[in-house]
Amino acid sequence: MWEQRWHPLREEWVIVAAHRQSRPWSGAQVGSQAVRPPAFDPTCYLCPGNARVNGAVNPEYGGTFVFDNDHPCVGEHAPRELVPPPPGYRSRPATGVARVVCYNPRHDVTLAELSVEGVDTLLQTWQAQMRELASHPDVNFVLIFENKGEVTGVSNPHPHCQIYATNFTFKYIETEVLAGRRHLEATGRTLFHDILAAERQDGRRIVAQHGSAIAFVPYFARYAYETYVAPMRGVDTIAALTDDERRDLATVLRDVTIRFDNLWQMPFPYVMALHQAPLKRSAGDVEGFHFHIEFHPPLRRPNLLKFLAGPEIGGGNFLSDTSPEEKAAELAAAGGQHYRSTTACSK
Ligand SMILES: [Zn+2]
Ligand SMILES: [Zn+2]
Repeated sequence: MWEQRWHPLREEWVIVAAHRQSRPWSGAQVGSQAVRPPAFDPTCYLCPGNARVNGAVNPEYGGTFVFDNDHPCVGEHAPRELVPPPPGYRSRPATGVARVVCYNPRHDVTLAELSVEGVDTLLQTWQAQMRELASHPDVNFVLIFENKGEVTGVSNPHPHCQIYATNFTFKYIETEVLAGRRHLEATGRTLFHDILAAERQDGRRIVAQHGSAIAFVPYFARYAYETYVAPMRGVDTIAALTDDERRDLATVLRDVTIRFDNLWQMPFPYVMALHQAPLKRSAGDVEGFHFHIEFHPPLRRPNLLKFLAGPEIGGGNFLSDTSPEEKAAELAAAGGQHYRSTTACSK
């Protein structure tokens, strides 16, 4: 396969050059996380009952646990009085809220090893956070994301994600909002609904489906194994999902992460991000936006990193070395029980 595919949400071309897959040099080798960590780690700042860097002690929590990030990138204590920028430049206070969400008291499990109830509890926590943060004066937008695996820069395996609630909208989502609005104006249809319709009609890239939720490798995937998880009904943020929709989403989310881990029988690294509409805007601004979750896995093969270089960093467009249809088929075949389910968490 050798062609360019249009990414309608980002409004950019992706060069798909899957014929280069077998070229002799194809990326950096990274080490695998072979050893399973203990169920409780006395030195972990996320485990129940342990002290964090600022002296606060984590409660003996049972489900999820949310706390303000001890090293926030945005926060209410960010300096309000700034050095005036040089002429022609702009600056402003880095206000907002940064939090950490622990998925489970167990140090040694991943999202894939939680029960459907466990994942649904996490989604309920995200909903509650969205509702609470919406009332915060410094918050216009909320990015919920998980970096998983050492190749994404995470050294602590304790299952957790982060919340950056900011005064600005992150660039990718801003682009998606604008693309959605333009598509709606031009066609009268919701862009993401058109994507869902195209994926269902083709069918080759669908990875999982349950009730009102679906997962697929998009036609225009930039990364190998890039996967979108979405409710079928268009909502602005996860907070608007009904209990049934949320449970379906939890089921599919868990299913996808199990497939990731089963693929190479190893904890599969990824960057997961919830793409949600900005919170403070006029109603028409986000018409045509559809909440979804994106997985961006950095590995192309076991321990083989997809390098971002000239095209991606230098130019801003992706060069994909893999066929989305092939990668989706691999994930579709990797379902079933989690490969290490005999030791998995029962909660
Ligand atoms: Zn821990
Ligand atoms: Zn998106």
